[in-house]
Amino acid sequence: MGNKEERHIVPCGSCQVCCRLSWVFLDPAQGDIAELYDTVEVIHPTTGAPARALAHRPNGGGCIYLGANGCTIHDRAPSMCRNFDCRLYYWQMMGKPRALRKRELREQYTAKELFEAGSNLQQKHPLPPLCA
Ligand code: SF4
Repeated sequence: MGNKEERHIVPCGSCQVCCRLSWVFLDPAQGDIAELYDTVEVIHPTTGAPARALAHRPNGGGCIYLGANGCTIHDRAPSMCRNFDCRLYYWQMMGKPRALRKRELREQYTAKELFEAGSNLQQKHPLPPLCA
């Protein structure tokens, strides 16, 4: 996700995997104001409760704010976009028991793509595992 705070620069390059695949949940506690975005209600995979997320384009092209050259709302992207780092996701997954990790990666194609993106970025720009 394209807009990172100064303290959390992620060298995404041209990768847009997370913008294409992830639901971006809005977090009012982090200052996100749902009314400022085009949103949909989805079930949060962690809590199982309804949650507001950025809308996706109908053609499966990912986040509605993803343009040809990346994020079109850099200066006001939600907190999840500013803070996400696929390398942390990679380390989080690597911390799970192998069988559980393999099952999640097999059953959730979004998890697999994000994991692979995190693995690739980790190889190019390593992040210490203690940061996970
Ligand atoms: S708001 Fe921008 S950074 Fe966030 S998912 Fe959409 S395109 Fe990516």
